[in-house]
Amino acid sequence: MRKPLIVGNWKMNNSIAESVDLAEKLKKVIKDMAGVDVVVTPPFTALGSVRNAIKGSIIKLGAQNLFWEDKGAYTGEVSPLMIRDLDCEYVIIGHSERREYFKESDEIVNKKIKAALRNKLKAIVCVGESLKEREENKTMQVIESQIKKGLQGLSLSEAKELIIAYEPVWAIGTGRNATPAQANEVHAYIRKLLSQILNEGIASNIKILYGGSVKPSNSAELMSEKEIDGALVGGASLEAESFAQIVRSACMV
Ligand code: PEP
Repeated sequence: MRKPLIVGNWKMNNSIAESVDLAEKLKKVIKDMAGVDVVVTPPFTALGSVRNAIKGSIIKLGAQNLFWEDKGAYTGEVSPLMIRDLDCEYVIIGHSERREYFKESDEIVNKKIKAALRNKLKAIVCVGESLKEREENKTMQVIESQIKKGLQGLSLSEAKELIIAYEPVWAIGTGRNATPAQANEVHAYIRKLLSQILNEGIASNIKILYGGSVKPSNSAELMSEKEIDGALVGGASLEAESFAQIVRSACMV
């Protein structure tokens, strides 16, 4: 049985004060929900303050990105060690916005996954097809390529700490979500791939999250699907009550 996981991706939003305010509100509304793991990923600038604000709650901390080297002359980058230093337990890797705007290839995603796992961070690896790829019936092909290249060379013990987020690019921030059946079909395919690349035992324990316009009105239905183990939430994670409602819907599965 995989424990549901709900991750809030705050993206490039919120000042330090706004982040702390949101974290404090979340701490109040998300409690007594032992049946679900909850993670927030504020911007780098607010990680330290949010860490302090969520102390004593069930909410865990994650980063939205990392660089693959531990230290050195890489101006502007943030290393896995620095992220660990801020008590982050999770890191998002290969989000479609990074793939699109920063040209992150599957090879870069692979280096980042290895750096995260080597540093005992749980890697939330995002994969997903564009609208054009879905319309051309290339969804499974795209997912297979992203997963195989992204996970290349991982040891089985490292791979246990992976989390996959299926995020169809056409559903991110558009208000247009995949139907539960569409998402479940891709999740089942991802799990089959993971069994082939890793092994069945490990694959059956890896959480596969859905992301793409998850909101209180659709989360329960998505979460009730067998292969959907939680959600990566963007827009709806910026408001405490809507995020809490999504967390609650995962609790009730
Ligand atoms: C995301 O940022 O990963 C995401 C899914 O965003 P949204 O929920 O706003 O579509």
